[in-house]
Amino acid sequence: MAITYNMLEVQVDLKRIVDNYRFMRSRAARLMPVIKADAYGHGLLPVAKALAAAGADAFCVGSVGEAVTLRRERKPDSGCRVVSLLGPMDREDYAEAVSHEVTLLVGRHEQLELLQVAASSAGRMAPVALKFDTGMSRLGFSEADVPRLIQTLTTSPNLRLELVTSHLATADEDSGVDYVLAQAERFRAITAKLSAAGLRFQANLANSAGILAYPELHFDLQRPGIALYGSNPFLGTNHEELGRPLKQAMSVTTRILDVHDLPRGGTISYGRTYTAPRDMRVAIMAAGYADGYSRGLSNKGQVCLKGSRAPILGRVCMQLTAVDITGREDVHPGDTVHLLGGSGRGYISVEELAGWWGTISYESFCILGLNRRVYFG
Ligand code: PLP
Repeated sequence: MAITYNMLEVQVDLKRIVDNYRFMRSRAARLMPVIKADAYGHGLLPVAKALAAAGADAFCVGSVGEAVTLRRERKPDSGCRVVSLLGPMDREDYAEAVSHEVTLLVGRHEQLELLQVAASSAGRMAPVALKFDTGMSRLGFSEADVPRLIQTLTTSPNLRLELVTSHLATADEDSGVDYVLAQAERFRAITAKLSAAGLRFQANLANSAGILAYPELHFDLQRPGIALYGSNPFLGTNHEELGRPLKQAMSVTTRILDVHDLPRGGTISYGRTYTAPRDMRVAIMAAGYADGYSRGLSNKGQVCLKGSRAPILGRVCMQLTAVDITGREDVHPGDTVHLLGGSGRGYISVEELAGWWGTISYESFCILGLNRRVYFG
């Protein structure tokens, strides 16, 4: 059993996730929420349950393992579809997917063949999703694979094609419009050929940014991820307004361990990277890179203490970080401090935190979400 040593607590407001889902549904009726990577650090099962109660009947997860975990909660007879976005890795994954009626996303011919074998030996039909590479250059079939796919799918008695997907590389970027449209064009050509061969399926292309910025690229289903957790994919771009209604669902807190004076000229933390320009007061909080609070935040990040900002001083350590509370008499050992979220003018958005950190909101959520979580809403 893991030893709990840290003080960080992640609060997840499920009502906000549901509100974000409803907002996205107001933009595109048919959604398959992406809850991979433990729902971007928010918790696979709590998020799935909240969204299912709000009407979601299909989910995209990150692995066969996540899919089986979700299937134990939402059995096939609930009418819920579970799609594993990361395709099968090991031979056992195929049998697992077949026995739990998980829709596998496959991008190579051998994967389809192994799925057919697993389904046939179980005497079942296997739902399948095809992934096409239209411009990410990661995984997936190309348009040239279509004839062989048609041949396989029309002659394999145990495969049932459900979904045809691709993923957009630049839907959240002002300069990405041409690339999005080129990807969509390739996707349309592929789906047209599959349809012309008599195959029936639901096409899906758009992620959060695609749903909001490209209504003309809505196919049968769409796959929102980051928007559900309340991060605006367009911050700092021309489309910023489109994501404004989204509400951040995650907050992260820790506690103040100690408060003390730092005289002018004094230095703080490893490497002495901060020297006090005047007499200062410093609070030491119980958070560090062992909690996923990145060392990249050293001398850059800020926290929210009782509704106001306090900047990080010196290097973030393994379990400790110093913040500036000069001139504040209201901060004491034991006080709660927000690393993410908070109140008043001190509120910290995930985009701001990610900016100091040198990353994106997705990574900040995933990493901080590894800490102990509590749910409300
Ligand atoms: N579809 C696929 C295949 C993905 O990998 C992801 C996330 O990475 C999504 C949809 C959701 O994307 P976003 O979180 O940008 O909405």
